[in-house]
Amino acid sequence: MKNSNFYNRRAFLRTLSYGIGAAAIMPALDTFAFPASRKLGIALVGLGGYSSGQLAPALQSTAHCYLAGIVTGTPAKASSWSSQYKIPQKNIYNYENFDRIIDNPDIDIVYVVLPVALHKEFTIRAAKAGKHVICEKPMALNAADCVEMIAACKQANRMLSIGYRLHFEPHHIEVMRLGQKQIYGKLSSLEAANGFTWGGNKDSWRLKKALSGGGALMDMGIYAIQASRYTTGQEPLFVKAREEKTKPELFADVDETIYWELEFPEGFKTEGKSSYNNNWSYLKVEAAKGIFELSPSYGYGGISGKTSSGMMNLPNINQQAAQMDDFAQCILQKRATRVPGEEGLKDMKVIDAIYKSIASGKKEAIQI
Ligand code: NAD
Repeated sequence: MKNSNFYNRRAFLRTLSYGIGAAAIMPALDTFAFPASRKLGIALVGLGGYSSGQLAPALQSTAHCYLAGIVTGTPAKASSWSSQYKIPQKNIYNYENFDRIIDNPDIDIVYVVLPVALHKEFTIRAAKAGKHVICEKPMALNAADCVEMIAACKQANRMLSIGYRLHFEPHHIEVMRLGQKQIYGKLSSLEAANGFTWGGNKDSWRLKKALSGGGALMDMGIYAIQASRYTTGQEPLFVKAREEKTKPELFADVDETIYWELEFPEGFKTEGKSSYNNNWSYLKVEAAKGIFELSPSYGYGGISGKTSSGMMNLPNINQQAAQMDDFAQCILQKRATRVPGEEGLKDMKVIDAIYKSIASGKKEAIQI
């Protein structure tokens, strides 16, 4: 399956850069290793808003990876990106010839930045082509698809991570510490909300269930679910949810606003909500000896936090650069990513259970 020159080059680099013992740290990756000084090549698949507005610019300031290639269905974008980012013709693919990337040693990581319905296909094709994968959130249409994606990457011996940029963001890292270490004592309440008022195109893939898997819950609510999970450091056992729709024509196919309550071990409950009709972005936590909160909470910048002790005074960083650099270092240093496919799967199990609860009108179990 692998191009032999490609493999031999890697095998040579492995000998050059690592001793035998390194494989014990990350046995799944023992066939690939690089000198720590090498920047890994990333190919972005799908050159829409997030790739052009955030990821490609972030890749201009990364230390351990760079924008090496692109995969696009639009020839005009291929040529404008090629000249803007100096991407050689040999590193440009379309969705049909994408699998030929297997023969391209410049590309180490494929970053899937497509509508959700295409995440599974391109993640699996990338892994089969011998590439490590970053897949955007939400990981897939449902938990069953996530399981297939994880299995495909394991089978191909490739690392899979999800584009959960906030795990690398200083305010969110602080919230994980405050919550999980119970710095202000046992948590007594947690509310997380994320949404915006839809002003976009009514023909967007985000409003088509077949392409998006769902509406604001999949797109925005996933951040609030993540926040509940990483602030408590626990996995929810049950969920009860309800849906509200004020614009049934615009949101005919997908959810507009959803409210949910996650039940954690020992009965602790968190509140969450997502919307395409409300500008929400906060995480508010109360604990026995104080409070902590982020507001706004989930954007690319401008995150602000305070606790009972005062303002958090933490920097806003380039989240995408930090996220991609960390993944490159995980590959280079043979360590596990903090946002693996399994993390995406857990959120999809919660999302599946939220939709199930809305349909049944009952509290539903979450099988994490
Ligand atoms: P977008 O609509 O701006 O871009 C989607 C791209 O996919 C376009 O280039 C389009 O041409 C291409 N595409 C290929 N096949 C398509 C099809 N059948 N239908 C529609 N488009 C098709 O979307 P986006 O905002 O860039 O989102 C892409 C992915 O990135 C999504 O999974 C989204 O959830 C994720 N995203 C993540 C963040 C984050 O902060 N992590 C932010 C924005 C988007």
